[in-house]
Amino acid sequence: MSEPDEQMMQRIARRHGVDVVFADEHLIKLNGRDAYENASFSSGNVHTSDKRWPPRIEIGIYADAELRLLSFFHELGHCLDSTRPWHTSKLDQERAAWEIAYSLATSHGVESSAEARDWASAQLETYNTPEWSCHA
Ligand SMILES: [Zn+2]
Repeated sequence: MSEPDEQMMQRIARRHGVDVVFADEHLIKLNGRDAYENASFSSGNVHTSDKRWPPRIEIGIYADAELRLLSFFHELGHCLDSTRPWHTSKLDQERAAWEIAYSLATSHGVESSAEARDWASAQLETYNTPEWSCHA
């Protein structure tokens, strides 16, 4: 039997020094259920964070397990992105996180379907606006 997704996410994140939590009753009460519908979050970066406060990922609620797993790799991408200080826009940050996500997924034997990749591209495209791509 293959390893359950949550266990795999914990194992991979831990290996990189990143904490991962799954949207539970407490987080949903705190931030609202809508915040976690097909959405995950990350904070911190392994290259810059204070060791006492390791980078952290919150995995949201997804109807599609593949999108959930791909989102995990994307958030992990943000946490591991060594080029983060040089990104001049949110769009650059997002693009880098997806690039890292795909290489992480591949290195962990996770292949993404064309549908999942299309979904990821659509996610990235939401940042391709003058507001997000302009240099801050
Ligand atoms: Zn992102």
